Amino acid sequence: MAVLNDVKRIVVKVGTSSLTHSTGKVNIRQMKKLVTVISDIVNSGIEVALVTSGAIAVGVGKLGLKERPTTTAGKQAVATVGQCELMFMYDKMFDEYGHTIGQFLITKRDVDNDESRENLVNAFEKTFEFGSIPVINENDVVAIEEIVYGDNDNLSAIVAKLINADALLILTDIDGLYDKNPKEDEYARIIPVVEEITFGLYEIAGGKGSKFGTGGMITKLQAAQTATEAGIDTILMNGAEPENIYKVLEGHQVGTFFVAK
Ligand code: GLU
Repeated sequence: MAVLNDVKRIVVKVGTSSLTHSTGKVNIRQMKKLVTVISDIVNSGIEVALVTSGAIAVGVGKLGLKERPTTTAGKQAVATVGQCELMFMYDKMFDEYGHTIGQFLITKRDVDNDESRENLVNAFEKTFEFGSIPVINENDVVAIEEIVYGDNDNLSAIVAKLINADALLILTDIDGLYDKNPKEDEYARIIPVVEEITFGLYEIAGGKGSKFGTGGMITKLQAAQTATEAGIDTILMNGAEPENIYKVLEGHQVGTFFVAK
């Protein structure tokens, strides 16, 4: 069995589907559960950085648009609105438990450039020192097509590396990595522990006809690969029950555990 031990700093990544209703409006109940658990974990002495998606969806909801814009400018404009709302909600909720949050909007350019990466790392360290919780998203407003991470899975692994996290917890809308497509095969089983991220796993995650894969399992595997290669244990788990984060930190088996190299 693979478990976490002696964890001092973690990254929690939460996706749009775990935070919003299909209307694009914030799923208050879900967000509250997540904020409650993270607040409690921080109270216990573990540092947490939260990588959150949802800016675009929340922007669509707040503006009352019928669908997500397809143009870059449209998506960017929607993100400007949604990111404000997202942070406003987080700020209000974390404040209830006496926590402050700090907003980090990151682009690939910031991480690739040595000087800005160093500044970023210093800002993270100071934020932790001040007892604040870093809340990170890609800077969708300026991250134009050619230079985007594009998905927060990969971004969360980059952040985990930047801040030297002990573990990366990716919260998603299924229970973990399955050996087959769980939507098509009733015998699909969760793979509890992954020691090696092989080509075969990518095939399972993105194989033909596996809708669940193309929807985002590939980027989760990429993230797990980046993080584990940097010595960071990675857990893929269902975001519907954020309380499971306690179990993970207490050394129980939840979801899929990708063992650090
Ligand atoms: N940065 C995007 C947003 O906040 C989400 C990217 C993703 O879903 O991974 O809307």
